[in-house]
Amino acid sequence: MSNMLHVNRATFDEVMLPNYAPQSVVPVKGDGSHVWDQDGREYIDFSGGIAVNCLGHCHPALVQAIQEQSQKLWHVSNVWTNEPALRLAKKLVASTFADKVFFCNSGAEANEAALKLARRYALEKYGEQKNQIISFNQSFHGRTFFTVTAGGQAAYSDGFGPKPGAIDHATYNDLASLEALISDNTCAVIMEPMLGEGGVTPATDAFIKGVRALCDKHNALLIFDEVQTGFGRSGHLYMYQAYGVTPDILSTAKSLGGGFPIGGILTTDEIGQHLKFGTHGTTYGGNPLACAVAEAAFDIVNTAEVLQGIETRERLFRDKLQQINQKYDVFSEIRGKGLLLGAVMNQAHEGRAKEFIAASVEQGLMCLVAGPNVVRFAPSLIVEPQDIEEGFLRFDKAVARVVAGD
Ligand SMILES: *Cc1c(COP(=O)(O)O)cnc(C)c1O
Repeated sequence: MSNMLHVNRATFDEVMLPNYAPQSVVPVKGDGSHVWDQDGREYIDFSGGIAVNCLGHCHPALVQAIQEQSQKLWHVSNVWTNEPALRLAKKLVASTFADKVFFCNSGAEANEAALKLARRYALEKYGEQKNQIISFNQSFHGRTFFTVTAGGQAAYSDGFGPKPGAIDHATYNDLASLEALISDNTCAVIMEPMLGEGGVTPATDAFIKGVRALCDKHNALLIFDEVQTGFGRSGHLYMYQAYGVTPDILSTAKSLGGGFPIGGILTTDEIGQHLKFGTHGTTYGGNPLACAVAEAAFDIVNTAEVLQGIETRERLFRDKLQQINQKYDVFSEIRGKGLLLGAVMNQAHEGRAKEFIAASVEQGLMCLVAGPNVVRFAPSLIVEPQDIEEGFLRFDKAVARVVAGD
């Protein structure tokens, strides 16, 4: 290692584009829900790499899967298929509403594929006038130009020139606002069953069922973006299963690879057949390495033991957050589902979520924000109870410092 170039956080400002503002330390090693930085300082990880590391860091089964596959076959392109992709697809189909799968490399690419498929389906089945896509304010669907325009924060899509057209936004959890926009020219409604980036806000039961009914009435496809809520995070393999409302297309990524980049869409035969040969593609999508890791993650996540364990852990998180709130009176509400939870700042602390994150880092804890007002937790789905205990001892100290104003 001695001949390795020395780099640190300052190197970031030197050679990386400024579109991120990373924390002041550089993580170098992880194990379960623990991470160490360059100075050997240890952190408890309640962020899970933004709801990605569903089995924590360096889970032995994932390490084994990538090691074994790395000695067999890394990449062949979609000119050939490969065994890990086929096995993963079979398992996803067997456990969901879907008949067919398409793999890509990220959440944005998954939504890009979902939206393109919806447009193509509507065009071929109903004609070109049926092209409207409806999304929701505050939603997040990725950063490609199509998906970021579908997303509900204009600030992310402004400033890049003319936007993809025929995309409108309704208000989340407000069925009347969707009803006012939807028509027979609507090709698809895309929604997160629970807003992730937009504040950890679950859809109400009535809303999500109402959206399904409106889509059915107008022959519009319902796309669930489960990039953040999917693959166990809600305590179900996919969150639509908790609601009992089935989408026509579902996008998945983040936890799917447990930290290795992979995304995908799930859909029915009837819809999927419109993504005919040559209509869409990606060089890396369904890559054997990515699919081998995702298959190993699937075999662990999709078990009663892990899915039921998420409920127990959710209760622990909620109890700890309530206790901290009783002590410091900082949150107005704890919301979310499974291990995607948000602590909402009360009026006295409005807009201060970021300060809680900075104070947590100082205490050796990684957590996230979801907008200016919500501290978000998206830990490993198998985070150890003693790590939850220790993490909240640290969070308690962090909150104490923010409240004390230092
Ligand atoms: C993170 C996220 C995306 C984008 O995924 P990338 O892998 O960053 O492209 C899309 N939708 C939702 C709901 C997300 O949380």
